[in-house]
Amino acid sequence: MLRAPEGMVLIRHAATIDEGHELVADLCIVGAGAAGITLALQFAGTGLRVLLLEGGEAEKLPAAQSLYAGTVDTPDLHSPPDRYRERRFGGTTTVWSGRCLPYDPIDFDRRPWIADSGWPISYEDVARHYPAAMELCEAGEFVFSGAAVKPGGMRPLIRSFTSRHFDTDPVERFSCPTNFGARYRHRLEASRNVDVILGANVTELLTEGDGARVKSLVVRGLDGRRFTVAAQQVVLATGGLEIPRLLLASRDRHAAGLGNQSGLVGRFYMCHIAGTIGDLRLDVDAGDVNAGYEQADDGTYCRRRLALTPEAQAEHGLANALMRLHFPAIPDPSHGSGPLSALYLAKPFVGHEHGKRLQNRGGEGMWLRHALNVARDPLATSAFLWRWLRYRTLAARKFPSVIVPTRDNRFSLDFHGEQVPNRDSRVTLGGETDAFGMPRLAIAWRHSPTDIRTAEVALDLFAGDLRRWGRGRLTYDRDAVAHHMLRDGAYGGHHIGTTRMSANPTGGVVDPQGRVHGVANLHIAGASVFPTSSQANPTLTVVAMALGLAETLKRTFAARPHLDTAGLGQRDAA
Ligand SMILES: Cc1cc2nc3c(=O)[nH]c(=O)nc-3n(C[C@H](O)[C@H](O)[C@H](O)COP(=O)(O)OP(=O)(O)OC[C@H]3O[C@@H](n4cnc5c(N)ncnc54)[C@H](O)[C@@H]3O)c2cc1C
Repeated sequence: MLRAPEGMVLIRHAATIDEGHELVADLCIVGAGAAGITLALQFAGTGLRVLLLEGGEAEKLPAAQSLYAGTVDTPDLHSPPDRYRERRFGGTTTVWSGRCLPYDPIDFDRRPWIADSGWPISYEDVARHYPAAMELCEAGEFVFSGAAVKPGGMRPLIRSFTSRHFDTDPVERFSCPTNFGARYRHRLEASRNVDVILGANVTELLTEGDGARVKSLVVRGLDGRRFTVAAQQVVLATGGLEIPRLLLASRDRHAAGLGNQSGLVGRFYMCHIAGTIGDLRLDVDAGDVNAGYEQADDGTYCRRRLALTPEAQAEHGLANALMRLHFPAIPDPSHGSGPLSALYLAKPFVGHEHGKRLQNRGGEGMWLRHALNVARDPLATSAFLWRWLRYRTLAARKFPSVIVPTRDNRFSLDFHGEQVPNRDSRVTLGGETDAFGMPRLAIAWRHSPTDIRTAEVALDLFAGDLRRWGRGRLTYDRDAVAHHMLRDGAYGGHHIGTTRMSANPTGGVVDPQGRVHGVANLHIAGASVFPTSSQANPTLTVVAMALGLAETLKRTFAARPHLDTAGLGQRDAA
């Protein structure tokens, strides 16, 4: 066991490591995003020597970000891979929106109507880590019932509405949103046994013997320097696209890539299916609809949603899905709302990730009509901008998203659905290489008929429930559902399934403990291990499973003697 010597700088840059040296550690974690930082924190103060290698730096650097570039065979359906993820300390949590919700018990089940569904671990295995994951995400208590998030409960989504097919009680909760790098940097520094190296890009894993154990990791700095790391245990936490890339590029003993004996590394690539659709009119008082946010006692923002029940999923052969009440589509100026039009006009200043959904869908004349909406609605527009500045831009806990009061109780529906496993949806290595000579990613994202049918049938079921209730009406173009769900393509920053978990090596890439099948000391943390994608955004579950992996690794360390890590942990590779 190695203790950091007095005065050692525990967040340093790759440029401080000598060319050709080999660093030695008990545990090496690659990637300092939500998963990697969560893991590293669990080992802070343990006395184990931990190396956290981060390719990016504290700020976003174009040269580092460009390492993420790659190709997409359907650019209209999937964004370039250097968008929707951040190569920097804190990873993509530097830009995430903070929506936190757990996976549902049904997500873990083998569902006969969904091929390749079923996890080799149970909901309870993950759920026991959710409370601590909520704390790390700063999303409040692990309570997701609208009736229970605060004394007296939240107001109902739609008063007196009862649905056969949707549960209206669940809420989603919101992180600050917490930038894991900024928030936990000092805790890592204070730990004195976690050595964070920025600008340290892992380009290959080298194995020993018959390839059943990682011998060392090849690390490159943007200045061209190369050094290696030898660690007793290695965890890849580089995100759902970069983890398969690293495995596929590690070919010293396995021509098809490390952990790829079943040809599954990079397959089953899932995001989410999402879109805004329909015209919902509710014949109730405006105060009887609760489409916005309420704060729980602990200050976290909570929002109600319509969750497709497990029974409805089973009865109709659907994937998991949810819907939220949304304001009318922002790009369509017929909503007449000054605040919404102001948002539309601000789109040149909005980042790609959020601006994508504001794309012009009606020609250049739209600008004028939006400008007129703003001019006709100056009071509402300035009140909205003031609230945005106060509660979003300046607040430590940010108001999660735009909420604009609608006219006449008119809404659209924001659909967010599971993408079912599809082995033809995959990432591979392309022909181009990056600055280190590492093959770039080639993405072939595919969706399945069930993905679209789920949206179609969910809308039908909700429309039917409204008809039976008698005080609401949903109209939508059934033939255009696929168009609306695919208009913005694969849902942004959720990169899931590319190293799926399975009980045996023929069905996946990692075992139920997150260890790569057939490689004794290599583990994966992140959404790439999820066999299915749920309706839920992935990060809370990424963090919960990283906590589970930390427990497993601690048991492994407790059972085995440490490497001899005498000295500073730096030795000549020669
Ligand atoms: C705009 C946007 C909004 C989002 N909103 C939400 C939301 O509301 N809710 C939600 O649950 N999720 C959301 N997400 C997704 C969320 O950000 C990710 O799920 C989460 O960041 C994944 O964590 P991770 O640690 O697996 O990967 P990342 O956060 O991407 O971290 C990976 C880290 O690895 C580093 N790295 C990569 N390659 C290498 C290498 N070869 N060597 C060394 N280091 C490397 C990267 O620099 C990075 O720091 C959003 C994403 C985007 C883009």
